[in-house]
Amino acid sequence: MLWKESFFLKHFFYLAHNLRPMEFSSKLLENAVNEVSQLPGIGKRTALRLVLHLLNQPEDQTLQLSLSLQKMREEINFCKNCHNISDTDLCEICANPNRDAKLVCVVEDIRDVMAIENTSQYRGHYHVLGGKISPMDGVGPGDLNIPTLVQKVKSGTMNELIFALSSTMEGDTTNFYIFKQIEDCDIITTTIARGISVGDELEYADEVTLGRSILNRIPFESSLKST
Ligand SMILES: [Zn+2]
Repeated sequence: MLWKESFFLKHFFYLAHNLRPMEFSSKLLENAVNEVSQLPGIGKRTALRLVLHLLNQPEDQTLQLSLSLQKMREEINFCKNCHNISDTDLCEICANPNRDAKLVCVVEDIRDVMAIENTSQYRGHYHVLGGKISPMDGVGPGDLNIPTLVQKVKSGTMNELIFALSSTMEGDTTNFYIFKQIEDCDIITTTIARGISVGDELEYADEVTLGRSILNRIPFESSLKST
């Protein structure tokens, strides 16, 4: 392509999107903005705002931030039992003798562990898969912590496995894939209840959620325990 064509195309793009290319007075600033803008949900303009904010802070505060990120990157561990992010070989949950190791909840990542822990309703262990099977994103079963889970189930040390993946096509596919690997094992498999959120009006619930709520109805006495 001629340089003139490429020049006009580039500027047409910026005009069409009501944007102008950022002109940096410093290469160091530009590099920092480019790095920060790689983070999810952060565009170039937000990145510039954040970088300028850091520049206005006392120098040791910015150094502390970069040091803690570096330290996290270099020293972070994954629990050898459940694959949760941990500072030690065994995470606090797996190392706690008061937790029930025979009850294991399968989740996608640490955010799900934190969400369930915040409910204070669960006293079992977890197994963190590190994602969901998603052919569209190039994630296959071999990219996830599935073999160690299957191995754990087959060792016969567990009573119940709870599937707690999100209710999406990828989540359902992953649940089904794991279930097929262990269906001959002597273990109870359950899935977290899907249904109407607390405080939701029934008429506004979508058909799939409402349909699942009817199919997975529970004894009335059980509903009293959770209130
Ligand atoms: Zn653990």
